[in-house]
Amino acid sequence: MARTGILIDNRWRTSESGRTIDVLAPATGRPFTQIAAAVDADVDAAVKAARQAVESGAWSRLNAAERGRLLLKMAIVVADHAEELAALEAQDTGKPIRQARNDIVAAARYFEFYGGAADKAHGDTIPFLNGHFATTERVPHGVTAHIIPWNYPAQMFPRSVGPALAMGNAVVMKPAEDACQTPLRMAELMVENGFPEGAINMVTGYGHEAGAALSGHPGIDFISFIGSNETGVQIQTAAARNHIGCTLELGGKSAQIVFADADIEAALPVLVNAIVQHAGQTCSAGSRLLVERSAYDRVVGRVAERFAQVRVGTPEMDLDLGPLVSAKQRDRVTGYCGGADADGIPLIAEGQMADGLPAGGFFVRPRLYGPVPRGNRLASEEVFGPVMAVLPFEDEADAIRLANGTPYGLVAGIWTQDGGRALRVGRKMQVGQVFVNCYGAGGGIELPFGGMKKSGHGREKGFDALKEFSAVRTLVIRHD
Ligand code: NAD
Repeated sequence: MARTGILIDNRWRTSESGRTIDVLAPATGRPFTQIAAAVDADVDAAVKAARQAVESGAWSRLNAAERGRLLLKMAIVVADHAEELAALEAQDTGKPIRQARNDIVAAARYFEFYGGAADKAHGDTIPFLNGHFATTERVPHGVTAHIIPWNYPAQMFPRSVGPALAMGNAVVMKPAEDACQTPLRMAELMVENGFPEGAINMVTGYGHEAGAALSGHPGIDFISFIGSNETGVQIQTAAARNHIGCTLELGGKSAQIVFADADIEAALPVLVNAIVQHAGQTCSAGSRLLVERSAYDRVVGRVAERFAQVRVGTPEMDLDLGPLVSAKQRDRVTGYCGGADADGIPLIAEGQMADGLPAGGFFVRPRLYGPVPRGNRLASEEVFGPVMAVLPFEDEADAIRLANGTPYGLVAGIWTQDGGRALRVGRKMQVGQVFVNCYGAGGGIELPFGGMKKSGHGREKGFDALKEFSAVRTLVIRHD
């Protein structure tokens, strides 16, 4: 079991409000632990601790290599605690244990990547006026605020705080109230493994309380937010009020485009997994399957066969997908399905429910719908569940128009054996990441990730995240 309090200055405490929040296991619908409901006073204390750490505390005295070493050590510590962390993640989020194990591998890799990168974020020397020497360096913002959602807490914790700490910021994180056990446990492991006071602070609680208090706090210097579009607007507004920057990683309605010449047998498991993984509760879920009309029946027939074999179970059953995270999320998804049924959209295939599922769990049956009319909400709105919309397209130009035809712009997948077409279409995609003959490609810790259009702005992952969590300072010295 993870610590469930608020972490400030390497000490755990309860909320000033005295209140707690029950955390439910998605597979049973029953509470298995409680977290503190942080309020303004807790957030204020956390921000002050971070400020002290970054301005005069032990954290500010570490050089880049020393910060990197602490993060690298965490890569080993997380790997050493892999089974414990995976069990916690599976219980908390409901995902199959195998998927949770993969998430812990990714979490360790984030610590490794950013530990290794900490002392490699160089500045430049710039040719300038005669008699002058001009150089730049990357400096931390100071105190960075991090707000993450419930779908991949184990990955999002190091993905968000890793680059911020690598660059020398002190961080305050507000994880999601629905699932935050692995971030709390990893923060505890960071304290046990040498992170000095105030470098990492955790405030658990509700978005409208702890989250709003943190994003609106005048003592923070930058906000990194991953979550819904609705909350993203509030975060950006709060950042504007404080004249600080923010990155927003928001929703998606990502297209997988299958041309008639695609190797469909190779594509099949990837196409289906892109909506099944963590029950479709993935921002980059491939929730729209666009199929060239001339191959529509053949491709959709094979996808339907595979889709019908998908099985829903508890995390321990370790099938293809688990329950949704909450009753609210389940109702949202079943609402979309009810809407599709009412609109008369054909149901092509359904997944299977395992026998003996706990009665109170938030399980839903995966659904494949199509052809979905282009104007239908299933074709353009994010369901955030295991529901895939299939749409036919006529030709290359139509595929591009259709793929780009939603307000979102996160990821696109292209399946074709024509290299020229892959490049032509790929370079027209209004998204942050394009995959050709693959999708998601193993987590992509090294690859810049983020949205265009309403999927947000800024880049996480890879080296680009180091730039987001730092500012460029230019120094000009006249020597003649
Ligand atoms: P959400 O916006 O409701 O919650 C995300 C986080 O924000 C939680 O920690 C929550 O407590 C907090 N929050 C809520 N209201 C707040 C407020 N007023 N002020 C400050 N913080 C607040 O999102 P969700 O429903 O938990 O997550 C699902 C959404 O996240 C989906 O739209 C999904 O696409 C998106 N998402 C995006 C990415 C990405 O990298 N692009 C990754 C995962 C999820």
